[in-house]
Formats: sequence, C-alpha cells, structure tokens
Amino acid sequence: VTSADNEGRVRDAIIIGAGFAGLGMAVAFEREGLIDYLILERAGDVGGAWRDNTYPGAACDIQSHLYSYSFRPNPDWSRVFATQPEILAYLRRTAEEEGIRPHIRFGADVTSARWNSRDRCWDVTAAGSEYRARTLISAAGHLSDPVYPDIPGLQTFAGRLFHSARWDHEFELRGTRVGLIGTGASGIQIVPELADVVASLDVFQRSAPYIVPRRDREYTVAEKRMFARVPETAQNLRDELFWYNESRFPQRRQVPSFIEQISSVARDHLASQVPDPALRAQLTPDYEIGCKRILISNDYYPALQRPNVRLRTEGIARIDETGIVLGSGEHVDLDVIVAATGFEAVEPPISRVIVGRIGRSLAETWDAGMEGAYACTTVAGFPNFFIALGPNTGLGAGSMIYMAETQIGYVREAVAYILATGATVEPAESAQRRYVESVHRRSEGTVWTAGGCSSWYLHPRSGRLTTLWPDFMSQFRRENGHFSPSDYVSEPDAGELALQRS
Ligand SMILES: Cc1cc2nc3c(=O)[nH]c(=O)nc-3n(C[C@H](O)[C@H](O)[C@H](O)COP(=O)(O)OP(=O)(O)OC[C@H]3O[C@@H](n4cnc5c(N)ncnc54)[C@H](O)[C@@H]3O)c2cc1C
Repeated sequence: VTSADNEGRVRDAIIIGAGFAGLGMAVAFEREGLIDYLILERAGDVGGAWRDNTYPGAACDIQSHLYSYSFRPNPDWSRVFATQPEILAYLRRTAEEEGIRPHIRFGADVTSARWNSRDRCWDVTAAGSEYRARTLISAAGHLSDPVYPDIPGLQTFAGRLFHSARWDHEFELRGTRVGLIGTGASGIQIVPELADVVASLDVFQRSAPYIVPRRDREYTVAEKRMFARVPETAQNLRDELFWYNESRFPQRRQVPSFIEQISSVARDHLASQVPDPALRAQLTPDYEIGCKRILISNDYYPALQRPNVRLRTEGIARIDETGIVLGSGEHVDLDVIVAATGFEAVEPPISRVIVGRIGRSLAETWDAGMEGAYACTTVAGFPNFFIALGPNTGLGAGSMIYMAETQIGYVREAVAYILATGATVEPAESAQRRYVESVHRRSEGTVWTAGGCSSWYLHPRSGRLTTLWPDFMSQFRRENGHFSPSDYVSEPDAGELALQRS
C-alpha cells in the first residue's frame, strides 16, 4: 500500500483507459451492479481519442448514429458526422449519468501491470500507487500514442512543432507559415480549417489518399424530436448505417465490380474538384482503393487550390532550424510544423507494460506487433486478462464502437464466470494459434495485404495484417460475441478467491 488511493483490497476488475472502450466496459459493470471495478486513466478527463484530438476540423468519419454506444443512443446528434466537441460531450455525459466517475482515478498512468501467480491477481502500478484486481482489461487505445515522423533534423526546428493529437491551442496560428506533414484522416480534416487562417500552408504528402464525398448534413429539429420520441426510428437509422458500412466490405475481398464502382466515385470526385491536370496527377493514388482508409471530404481538394496553399510531393529530405528541405533541395521557410503522422498503432506502448504469468511482457510475447489473441481478446500466458481493440479489431470501414461493444459483451461474461467460480482463465496456446491462423488466412488476398500500399494495418517486419479485422463486422460478433469457458484453460480455486475478497 503506497498511497491513500490504494484501499488495499483485491478488486474484481481494473480497466486501463477511459475512452470509448473503457467507459463502455464500465457501463456494463455498473449496470450489472455487483462488480467492484476501477478505471485507471493517465489523463485528467474521460474521452480518450476524443479528448486528445482537438485539432481544428476534428470529426468522426463514421456516422454518429452508428459511431456511438447502442446502449446509449443519442437522439440529439447535431449532424451526420459529429465534430469532436460533441463526441467528447457525449462521453462525458456517459461517465456522469452512468455513475462511472467515482470509479476513475485520473492522472493514473499505468507503468506496470504484472500477473501475481502466488496471489492470483494483477498487481498494477500507476503514478506511484499500487492496485490489485482479479481481472485486468486493457482499453488503452490503438490510436492513443502519437508518432512523430522519423525525419533527420526534426528536433532542430526552432519554430513551433506539435502533433495533430496534441494541438497547441496556446499558439496563435493566424498569419503564420505552417507546414503540415501527413495527408491521412487527420491531415485532410485540418487543411481546410488552417487554409482560411494562416499566411501560407505547405502540405507534405507521402502518398495520396483516395477521397470520396462526405455525405454530411445537419439533422433538423423535427428529425431530432422524432429520434427522441420514437426511439425505433433512431434504431432503424442505426441499423441502416450498419448495413451500409457492412456492404462496403466486398471491396476488401477484391470483388471487381465493387472496386470499379467505388474507384469511379473517388475518381469523379477528384476530377470534378481539381481541374488542373498536374495537381490532379499529384493527388491520384498509386495503389488499389481500400488498401489504406478511404477518406471522406468535400473541402480538402478545394482548400489545396487556394493561393496560399501548396501541395508538396517531392518528399522531405530533412528539417533544419527554419523549415523543411525537400528532396529537390528546395527550402520551405516555416514558423510552425504540424505532424499529422498518426499513432503507435502497430506496437502499442501498453504492450510493454503488461507482464504475464512467466514474466514476459505482451510486447515480448508478440515478436512482431500485436501478433494475435484468442477471439482477438485474450492471450495465452496472460491469465484473466482482456485487451479491448487490440489485435485484428480495427476496421477500414465501420464503427469501432461496434467492435468494442462486442468485446465488452465477451469480457462481461468472462469476468462474471471468473468471479462466480474463482477460476483463473487463459486461452490454450494451441487454441490461440488456430484462431490467429484463421484470421490470417482470411487476410490473404485482401486489398490490405495485396493492394500495393504500405499502411499501419500491416506489421512492417512480418508483413502480416495485425491491426485490422479482415472480415465482416457482423462476423466478428458472431465469432467473438460470447465467452465460453470450454475454450479456456481454467484453474478453479473458489476457496482462495473467497479468502482474498474477504
Ligand atoms: C482523430 C480520430 C478520429 C477517429 N474517427 C473514428 C471514426 O470516425 N470511426 C471509428 O470507428 N473510429 C474512429 N477513430 C478510432 C478511435 O480510436 C476509436 O473509434 C475509439 O475512440 C477508440 O477508443 P478506445 O477507448 O479503445 O481508445 P482511446 O479513445 O484511445 O482511449 C484510450 C485511453 O487510454 C488511456 N491510456 C493509454 N495508455 C494508458 C496508460 N498506460 N495508463 C493509463 N491510461 C492510459 C488514454 O489516455 C485514453 O484515454 C478515430 C481516431 C482518431 C484519433
């Protein structure tokens, strides 16, 4: 016991992280009643990605009526794709109204979580305090630790440098010369917002994304009233959005007619918005559509054509005190560099923190990134441990909340089983291997592995698809929606559990 926070008891569950997944898990525990749980969150508020990504233009690109909890529908979404403040407010409201806040320790950066074989519980250290729990759920996020680009001289830049996920709101950008590195999902949301404000904006692109129109609009007062008064209408919309996104899956399986259809939408969008053939050529992707996330925007291409904005495709050679040196040798003078360069998705830092039964961390257990988990959720050698949105749970198109909710259902059942029986469960290594192989078999020949791009969906060493789920969302739920003890190696010990919990 090293601090007042530590009540010296073995809790039923510790959840790492208070984003969509961690909060959703907590709602399930809270509604269940009897579970004694704690959330350890390193930041000072709930919200995860939606607390951290406050860059101008930040919004979801999956429709809000689907990109939200099924068990907490929100009839008041202001538009089809809600912006970051609205999503964050939704998550704060969830924590408040579901009674979760008292269970959260903020400023609790988990630096160690070790399975204690003697006491058969997890020993967790966060910000100098020690906590113990029978079960551990990592909901630390797959896009929560920003990555800066590996460019020589980056640290020598004397101007302002920050990441899109750690936006520097103190700094007045008006009238400055800004360089934006990265044209992924965040980058293309930022460009139209900055273009209006800054003196000049140089956009550094490594590979061109496919972009299709953003079918966004505000919901009318009448629609919102209808969603509130007749909840089935909101549910019907949610179902419709689910199946719309699900129907975009065949393209991943290289169905030619579907590829042609979606490619032509992207091609037409580019042609109609970018008349200049030279710029259009620079903005034409050189890999198959879907290999990287297909982006949605109506204002990115127009913003690039403003007189104060320039697309740079020559590649970056290095960065010096005053700006960016291009591959061509040209120097671009800058006051600010914004890195919209993504996250440590392939090898999440939390995997170095969690140490299993034989004293090896998850990172050491997985040679090459998140190599796999049974049901995408549990790992051999890590008793009573569950990882939310870990290996093979990402989506190219679809709502991550659906994936998280599937896992929440699974973990809720597993934790109930563990607490009722006093068992310690982990998947058999052979069962895990079989499961992971079945996932990898499904990834072969998909656009992600064969589409000719390099993306964070693949591990750079193994070339394997480790972050993305290579099948339908509905199939994920069918396979991984329910915990079955028969899939697990189990050591019942109710007597010891009763002793520990007393
Ligand atoms: C800008 C942006 C837009 C996105 N848009 C969409 C979208 O439209 N549709 C979609 O499906 N997905 C989208 N995503 C993906 C998004 O990450 C997921 O949808 C979802 O928010 C993930 O929730 P999470 O709870 O797993 O992780 P997060 O929201 O990342 O939360 C993880 C939490 O864990 C905490 N944490 C991490 N490590 C530790 C530690 N060691 N100790 C204590 N706490 C820790 C973090 O502080 C954070 O609060 C987007 C992501 C980003 C970044």
